[in-house]
Amino acid sequence: MSEQQQKAGFETRAIHAGYEPDPTTGAVIPPIYATSTYKQDGVGGLRGGYEYSRSANPTRTALEGNIAALEEGERGFAFASGLAAEDTLVRALCTPGDHVVFPNDAYGGTFRLFDKVQQRWGVEYTPAGHDVEAVRAAMRPGSTKLVWVETPTNPLLGIADIEALAGVAHEAGALLVVDNTFASPYLQQPLTLGADVVVHSTTKYVGGHSDVVGGALVVREHGIAEAVEFHQNAMGAVAGPFDAWLTLRGIRTLALRMERHSDNAEQVVDFLTTHPQVQHVYYPGLPDHPGHAVAAKQMRRFGGMVSFRVTGGEAQALAVCERTEVFTLGESLGGVESLIEHPGRMTHASVAGTELEVPADLVRISVGIETAEDLVADLDRALG
Ligand SMILES: *Cc1c(COP(=O)(O)O)cnc(C)c1O
Repeated sequence: MSEQQQKAGFETRAIHAGYEPDPTTGAVIPPIYATSTYKQDGVGGLRGGYEYSRSANPTRTALEGNIAALEEGERGFAFASGLAAEDTLVRALCTPGDHVVFPNDAYGGTFRLFDKVQQRWGVEYTPAGHDVEAVRAAMRPGSTKLVWVETPTNPLLGIADIEALAGVAHEAGALLVVDNTFASPYLQQPLTLGADVVVHSTTKYVGGHSDVVGGALVVREHGIAEAVEFHQNAMGAVAGPFDAWLTLRGIRTLALRMERHSDNAEQVVDFLTTHPQVQHVYYPGLPDHPGHAVAAKQMRRFGGMVSFRVTGGEAQALAVCERTEVFTLGESLGGVESLIEHPGRMTHASVAGTELEVPADLVRISVGIETAEDLVADLDRALG
């Protein structure tokens, strides 16, 4: 990227960073390099460093450069899924006996990765709340290597103060990892607030069209980049060129989409907060949300994820999920289409019976970019 592009605004970087029009053909969009290997000009004579597509592929390189520019990081790395990115990161930075602090309402799959997989390999964990005191109390100085944060959290939209937690992590010699999936780099750039690593499930807002599963890591420092680069190649859970291409295609409209997701979510929240069948709405844009002030400080807007509890218990929550017509009942989030789900039975079923269990009367919605009035009318009908 030229110096001019590095200083460019977010939307310009989203469209141009990581790729220059192809020198041979002028192709404006990076080709899908569906190749596993590369011709060498004499033994070891690599063209542009490309040797084998697990190590590097030009379509993936374009995506990795782009997402690094959006997060204002040193390097970006693209993976086959968000969980593949997380697993690679933990194995790159932790060894048996190390300890990780992560949120007590973490994404269910992240919890499962630590609880059922990493723990068997000797990496210990403590779930903690996201306030500074809870995280500080959970630290084991000397053995805590990572403080893992999601903000906003899934599904309760809790907010962590990235800048403050970077201080807590660093004073104990640990790194701060932020799962930025819910905010996307358009709404929040954790590395600029002191975080060391950003994790994305690019399946969600970054890809944005519910047509590809992927993950990414963006790191602030060269040393961490080297460890991640080695493990990305050594473990091999990379994004394929078709997936990288689709993700890049999605990224070009990230700014526009996030603005509309936020507009529509605000209208839906206005409707839900006054509805008699709704007992509580979780949205960091609400002034009475406990994380509102911190969210307002570190986020550009409040995004498209909303959760709410109904007055009629689990039965009503399930019924609402099954009655909507514009909101599609399904897992995942962050696509252009609105989705609705019951975390207790769906995305967060893996944390049932643990301290991460979510309320049974909770409904989570991913507010899409359809006509806002249609979304409100759909929820109105479903709440009956
Ligand atoms: C979906 C999700 C993940 C996992 O990503 P996959 O692409 O599904 O592997 C991690 N963190 C958060 C917050 C998510 O929503």
